[in-house]
Amino acid sequence: MAKFNHKLLKELTDASGIAGFEDEIQVICTRELKKLCKTVTKDPMGSIIGFKPGSKKGKKLKIMLAAHMDEIGFIINYVDDNGFLRILPFGGFDPRALMCQRVWVITQKGEKLSGLLNLGTKPIHLMPPGETAKESTVPDYYVDLGMPEKEVKKKVEIGDFVTMNREYMQIGDCVTNKSMDDRVGVFLMIEALKNVKNNQNDIYAVGTVQEEIGLRGAITSSHGIEPDIAVALDITLAADIIGTEPHQQIARLREGITIKISDGASISDRGLVQEFKKIAKSKKIKHQMEILPRGGTDAGGIQRSRSGCRVITLSIPTRYGHTVNEICAINDVTAGIDLLAEWLNKY
Ligand SMILES: [Zn+2]
Repeated sequence: MAKFNHKLLKELTDASGIAGFEDEIQVICTRELKKLCKTVTKDPMGSIIGFKPGSKKGKKLKIMLAAHMDEIGFIINYVDDNGFLRILPFGGFDPRALMCQRVWVITQKGEKLSGLLNLGTKPIHLMPPGETAKESTVPDYYVDLGMPEKEVKKKVEIGDFVTMNREYMQIGDCVTNKSMDDRVGVFLMIEALKNVKNNQNDIYAVGTVQEEIGLRGAITSSHGIEPDIAVALDITLAADIIGTEPHQQIARLREGITIKISDGASISDRGLVQEFKKIAKSKKIKHQMEILPRGGTDAGGIQRSRSGCRVITLSIPTRYGHTVNEICAINDVTAGIDLLAEWLNKY
């Protein structure tokens, strides 16, 4: 096993890019896939497709890997007369996790501005008793750029976007950042490809766009590729925390990569589940089986493209998903890299 590539995972997770605005991550993804694939192309919606042809003569299977490049964030829909920016969600943040966060505002003019995310309520000192208990939604928040209105209006336009301002950090035997979902999946795909030697069949490694708002890039890129088999790479909930019963935890940190049986968007192909399980057992790769009652991955989009496709998802157990503190265990990520590479090498 090669040394864990913190440098690449930091670059991937620090980058800003919500659905439809994946520019920064497209550049990194293209650069990395070019080192590993024969060709790298961008499809009309912006998904990045690396093609690694198989060595076999005659008819080859098309194997698609999919990891989404977009992260959850916000779009600016209004600039008010105080220079405060009103926002709408692109993807599902828990509003409770947004109070007093630092953010980046990425403008269409090409600037990256620091901002403060705040709830549009009275300061605590002025609030009548009981008012703090009110439930808030994303549109109740606004961004303060620390600039007078005139300056703000010169720089910011409707349609600029906002992401969380967090940096990659190692913590214990784990790594944390905003947007581990799903840059850690992009990372897993790239690192696994490095260990694929002489694949017989064709591999298409795809950094997809717009997953967080409905698997859109996965649907369109798989229509273009027409894969026989697809493996989505994403995070799943490690709800092994206080307040969750053991039978509701979905996955546990440090228990290995998960092989998905089903989620809210797809049921994994049973043959593929068995293949991955068998390899994990024979190669002694730490793994756990996953059933996620709600939520989905790119596999859900790919499975329903054309006349259907055999799909599966490998997921990285992640605590505090869709917050700024998403955290994954390094050993679970490397187990995923090993399992995917071993499986690809069999094809
Ligand atoms: Zn995801």
